[in-house]
Amino acid sequence: MTDRPSVATRLARPWGSPSGPVTPPIHQTSLFTFDDYAAFEARMAGETDEPLYTRVQNPTVSEFERMMADLEGGEAAVAFASGMGAISAAIMALIRPGMRVACVEHVYPDAYRLLERMMAPAGVTVEYMPVDAMTEPGALDGYDVAYLESPTSMTLDVADLGAIARVAKAAGCLTIHDNSWATPLHQRPLELGIDVVVHSASKYISGHSDTVAGVVVASASLVAKLRDLTLPMLGAKLAPFEAWLLIRGLRTLVPRMRMHEATANLFVDRLAGLRQVTRVRSPGPNVVPGITGRSGLLSIELADGVDIPRLADGLRHFRLGVSWGGFESLIVPASISLRQSGEKNAAQRFGVSPRLVRLSLGLEDAEELWTDFEGALAAATG
Ligand SMILES: *Cc1c(COP(=O)(O)O)cnc(C)c1O
Repeated sequence: MTDRPSVATRLARPWGSPSGPVTPPIHQTSLFTFDDYAAFEARMAGETDEPLYTRVQNPTVSEFERMMADLEGGEAAVAFASGMGAISAAIMALIRPGMRVACVEHVYPDAYRLLERMMAPAGVTVEYMPVDAMTEPGALDGYDVAYLESPTSMTLDVADLGAIARVAKAAGCLTIHDNSWATPLHQRPLELGIDVVVHSASKYISGHSDTVAGVVVASASLVAKLRDLTLPMLGAKLAPFEAWLLIRGLRTLVPRMRMHEATANLFVDRLAGLRQVTRVRSPGPNVVPGITGRSGLLSIELADGVDIPRLADGLRHFRLGVSWGGFESLIVPASISLRQSGEKNAAQRFGVSPRLVRLSLGLEDAEELWTDFEGALAAATG
């Protein structure tokens, strides 16, 4: 054991002195001015690094970035206006025409669209494989970048990230991992050898479904490259007020994740006893090395006798909607995602079962959630 303070203690007052305000200020400004010509000139020449313009740097956003780098055990972080802002920045800064990318099947649908509709037409070769196939020695030979999620979206397939990192290193392949499901409390990919972590901070990091945000955590040199290549030109910077909401959200991350986990444990135990539930997908501690906790986002597969629209409409506490990780419990039947129009989407291409239903277990009373779910399921079983 080290004497490094616990996560909860570190999140209490990261921004400064023990006296004074208990919350950080919101630097709600677009620009920063300089006292004299010399100071302005030095900043423009890159000799100092005071904030200049909020599209690139803002103290409230920097505070959130520092907190995320600390939590993920990374050297630096850079925040974006959404999870997809973070993902697209990482992909656009690190992937070049002519490169070969290995991507997990069941990747987040908009990351899939980015690879298919922008990267592939620009001359990037993208191939998809099950996440656990990437742990096979040699599986990433010939690839430049591996784009990972573990657990994957909707299906929650998992793999040993440390093993993938070793396979990638042997192949000289850079790894990018979306850690939104686990949060740094339940999986720390950089410590397992992954190069770049991306998050949709709209989910558990925010925790209140009131913010859309994203962040990338990596080595100082990779983050500097990402900042330089994306913030000035693509401009998808996180806004100061959103950063402030995220700092507030992070301070309750530990108790929130404990409660999500307790409710998920209760569901997983009881779902196992229901004849209408044919499969439960809810990765828990040590299902693979590196995952140390269960989150509140899980999927189940339902027997043919269950009328899924009736189940969804019969629930009182679970609401129908995308996203997850906030206070309120949500349900997303895969049968709805599969009907999404447009070009073939990830769920269709990689064969998500139409009997799969995703639940985001929120912070409501666990017993009331269970009573609601069990009752609606019984009523929907013909
Ligand atoms: C929601 C989500 C994203 C996208 O994040 P936004 O903040 O909505 O842009 C990316 N990855 C995963 C796993 C997600 O669930």
